[in-house]
Amino acid sequence: MAEVTLSDLTKEYGDLTAVDALDLSVDDGELLCLLGPSGCGKSTTLRMLGGLETPTGGDVHIGGTEATDLPPYERETSMVFQSWALFPHKSVLENVAFGLKMDGVDGDERRERAREMLDVVEMGEFADHDPEDLSGGQKQRVALARSLAIEPDVLLLDEPLSNLDKRLREQMQLELRNIHDEVETTFVHVTHDQNEAFTLADSIAIMNDGEIEQVGEPREVYDDPTSLFVEEFLGDTNLVAAEAAATDGGVRASTEFDTEIALPVSEDAVSAGDALTVSFRPEDLDVERVDENAGAADDASALTGTVTDVLYRGSSVRFYVEIAGESVFFERSVGNADFDTDDRVRVSWNTDDLLVFAGGDRVGGGTP
Ligand code: ADP
Ligand code: MG
Repeated sequence: MAEVTLSDLTKEYGDLTAVDALDLSVDDGELLCLLGPSGCGKSTTLRMLGGLETPTGGDVHIGGTEATDLPPYERETSMVFQSWALFPHKSVLENVAFGLKMDGVDGDERRERAREMLDVVEMGEFADHDPEDLSGGQKQRVALARSLAIEPDVLLLDEPLSNLDKRLREQMQLELRNIHDEVETTFVHVTHDQNEAFTLADSIAIMNDGEIEQVGEPREVYDDPTSLFVEEFLGDTNLVAAEAAATDGGVRASTEFDTEIALPVSEDAVSAGDALTVSFRPEDLDVERVDENAGAADDASALTGTVTDVLYRGSSVRFYVEIAGESVFFERSVGNADFDTDDRVRVSWNTDDLLVFAGGDRVGGGTP
């Protein structure tokens, strides 16, 4: 186990800054997920941590030791890749023992440790098999065992599950979590999959364009995103453009909606006329059907609209509601999905559940 600190870490490829003065620390024994869209610099960051890429600037500390210029084999790190890259002409056991051989561990001990690691990944019974005979999920477990067998202080995983189909991927996420708890090694796990990060991570570092946007426990970054980027990337949410309108006793937003709505923002946080983005999370919306002849009963935290589309998504149903030109969605479980196209509905929410952003940054208080 070891803590990891990246300071001012930068990687340029010609004119392109792939990683931009990045600061990040990972605690001893923590499982940190580096999460972000494709091309944001996750792999480059991980490769600099493992010594497979030389930084243009900044430094890497592993377990309190400066490691920036150390070659991979002199660092206490081990990397698991997306492609499984097992040796085809060696048995599963020999594959797992390979790194130990390189480390000069003698034959008997090598095999014993390799067997132990195969047991950790629940592949003990396949020790004598040829890797060719294994399924994708089994190969990935063997690759994991091979990386863990050398007992690295830090295990680096670069989208190791992305070649697996959905069901197996979800199962492996849970197993990876259990393996982490068992071996108590520091894991830095790269993924572009939000669900994977939420399932696995002790903490999530969300990366955008070579920089870390936010770091925190999964619940914390989900409940309290500090930027519009994080809100959009993590949530499947309704983002509505609005303009701040000052009132006495709070701030309202005038939107495309006919009614001004109350915002959880104090008057000194924004000025009247500021362009805002308001996030209405589908899980925070209460929806009830209303009589189609009734007048709109809108207020500062409720609007009336018409269901335009009903989309079946397996176990849930997504409803789109048009409210004065804006399309807003909410979801219900299939058994509880009693709305139809053209239904008039009243959509309401708690003002405190709205998230408000100005110029990409969060304004106003956090949700509890
Ligand atoms: P991610 O893993 O988040 O998808 P990468 O770290 O692989 O992103 O890449 C970040 C950026 O750096 C991308 O724009 C990518 O095209 C670029 N890049 C990565 N490796 C190289 C390289 N060896 N040469 C030039 N550009 C690279
Ligand atoms: Mg990558």
